[in-house]
Amino acid sequence: MTFAAIVVAAGTGSRAGGDKQWRTLGGKPVLRWSVEALRDAGAEVVVVTAPGEGERAAEALAGLTGWRAVDGGETRAVSVRNGLATLNGPDDQVVMIHDAARPGLSRAVIERLLEAVALASGAGADGALPALPVADTLKRGMGGAVAGTVDRADLWRAQTPQAFRLGRLRAAWANWPKDETPTDDCAVVERDGGRIVLVEGEARLMKLTYPEDFEMAEALMAPRMQTRVGMGFDAHRWGPGTSVWLCGVEIPHDQTLIGHSDADAGLHALTDAILGAIGEGDIGDHFPPTDPQWRGAPSDVFLKHAAGLVTARGGRIVHLDLTLICERPKVKPHRQAMRERLAEILDLPLDAVSVKATTTEAMGFTGRGEGLAAQAVATVEVPG
Ligand code: MG
Repeated sequence: MTFAAIVVAAGTGSRAGGDKQWRTLGGKPVLRWSVEALRDAGAEVVVVTAPGEGERAAEALAGLTGWRAVDGGETRAVSVRNGLATLNGPDDQVVMIHDAARPGLSRAVIERLLEAVALASGAGADGALPALPVADTLKRGMGGAVAGTVDRADLWRAQTPQAFRLGRLRAAWANWPKDETPTDDCAVVERDGGRIVLVEGEARLMKLTYPEDFEMAEALMAPRMQTRVGMGFDAHRWGPGTSVWLCGVEIPHDQTLIGHSDADAGLHALTDAILGAIGEGDIGDHFPPTDPQWRGAPSDVFLKHAAGLVTARGGRIVHLDLTLICERPKVKPHRQAMRERLAEILDLPLDAVSVKATTTEAMGFTGRGEGLAAQAVATVEVPG
């Protein structure tokens, strides 16, 4: 069903420390959360900003289509009226009025509202709003003392979006006194004799009012993370040289590791471990050894690329553990520098990076000094 939505983002938000609709929450502007949710559900979106703030909306919503900015006014009432004036859908089109300060809008709430309004028109109702029951006991206070207990049995906490048929909402607003500001849009339809139905709201749809609300909203809206573990292994052959690159650190040595890139087996094993944790194949898929541009390349490029893939899907590297296997050079004197370099490349705390070393007691190819091996484990969190 095609529907329209007016997102009111014209407030000054002084109680939340100013301009809350433009602040960043969970990595994106508060306004963007609602507009993305409404666009994903197929809405034509009108964003009402304070006069002259259309540019800020364009910045906050960069890359999104299907929305336009409209100047609001002194009060929320003027802003909603301005938004409604720009809609030209049929009278029976569903329109939702939403406050940008409620970024936790889910598809489920949108669907419940659409269904309720679709049914409502047949059942003689004129709108729908998401609401939550009041859990706390309510007291009436006067002069710092309790003046009575309020029965909360029939009380609900109203949220937005509030959904109506466009023609019905327009008619109600036409009858609303110009000098009065309603507390919400349902109140306008209620006073006009309309009947509003309640649908189930959500805690995450909370209104950002005070500065501390941002922290709570962030926690409520954080995606559920899944922990993944990936492993990586690499080995390179020793050849003539004067130094060797291990974990992004150049160590003076009487040999070097031979390979297409800088042959940093430590970084290669770590890269494969990260790629493994997110199911992205192996280092050869991303940086084919046949591609001349990677000849002699510093391997931190590979590691950064793998880490970037984790970040791109909203994940993070939790911890890396690497074991270097060789008889020579002695790794221990360089271990701290290697950890620091890895932490720097990946912007991780030092205790999230572990480098260990072992010999194979003269057994096998590492023991005979033919080559060096590295094995790694990466622990990664991704939304899941
Ligand atoms: Mg390699």
